[in-house]
Amino acid sequence: MIREEIQSLAEYRLSQYPYRIKLNQNENPFELPLSLKEEITERIAGLNWSRYPAFVPREQIERVAEFARWRADGVLLGNGSNDLLRLLFAAVLERGKGVVISQPTFTLYRILAQSLGATVWDVRMTRDFCFDVEEIIKTAQDTNASLLVLCSPNNPTGSCLNRADLVRILEATESLLVLDEAYVQFAPESLTALLSEYERLVILQTFSKAMGAAALRFGYSLASPVLTAQLSKVHLPYSINALTLAAVDVLLQRWDTYKHWIDIILQEREKLFRSLCALDGLVTHPSSANFLLLETISRTPGEVFQSLLQRGILVRDVSSYPMLERGLRVTVGTPEENEAFVAALREALA
Ligand code: PMP
Repeated sequence: MIREEIQSLAEYRLSQYPYRIKLNQNENPFELPLSLKEEITERIAGLNWSRYPAFVPREQIERVAEFARWRADGVLLGNGSNDLLRLLFAAVLERGKGVVISQPTFTLYRILAQSLGATVWDVRMTRDFCFDVEEIIKTAQDTNASLLVLCSPNNPTGSCLNRADLVRILEATESLLVLDEAYVQFAPESLTALLSEYERLVILQTFSKAMGAAALRFGYSLASPVLTAQLSKVHLPYSINALTLAAVDVLLQRWDTYKHWIDIILQEREKLFRSLCALDGLVTHPSSANFLLLETISRTPGEVFQSLLQRGILVRDVSSYPMLERGLRVTVGTPEENEAFVAALREALA
């Protein structure tokens, strides 16, 4: 009874390993201050749990709109940005339609497209992991793709798409363009300013990375009001629970009091980059996100992964991704975690 497209999918899973230091999921290494968590729990205790949350959570939409600097009628809230990715893919794709994806990138895009029976057109990045803009345009034109998905900064390469390149792609193609900005707070710029010029552009952002709230499951899309209205028709009602909505309210109100942790992560990223560049047997790529892509030379990524794990450090082996046969991805952690990681990596490469 299960559709053939789903039966043939490989399972999407994350293996569980015992660890002391967790650098495998690009989470924020800092915990929210206890006072903030208490403010949130107090808010939650005051809610009536037997009632559904608001059908349209106006207050939170307004707050997100202000935070993201986009109009409230172009904001859709989701249970993580994954939720909105699924919504977008399902709204656009079906058997006979195609999506253009720049590879290597977040694996969920391919899985979602395949589960809908759509055709996936992969465009490889250049050897130094820049977006191959010409090839993206050509592929989208030649295949008449319905959807184009770009992630910037890109997971797992850390590469950024600049404004001029995004404009070139939008001008030369006709597909709906999803720009996944999950890591945008670590990058030089967000491209949300283009939303008012292009009705085919959808930008996704999340609370799971820089905002330090992956456990809450909250993300949002920014797009034209017309597109947002279409998407809301097929968005399940109440997909974000009242507890998360209350937390989002508080987090956005208090963001100024804890956002300095981004500066610390950025400083740590540069420090970590320099330390890793000094190691033999390794190529480290510059990144605009809160993680670094490494290519191991003297040992296989699998060997280095295991060796780090024996020392209690969990990173992500991305060697099964296109172009990344030698790839490992490491999240920027706290200063102590990064020091421990560099020391363990030095031993693992020896
Ligand atoms: N997009 C990208 C590029 C990601 O790396 C991730 C998390 N791994 C997500 C989306 C999903 O984020 P969320 O927790 O908001 O569902």
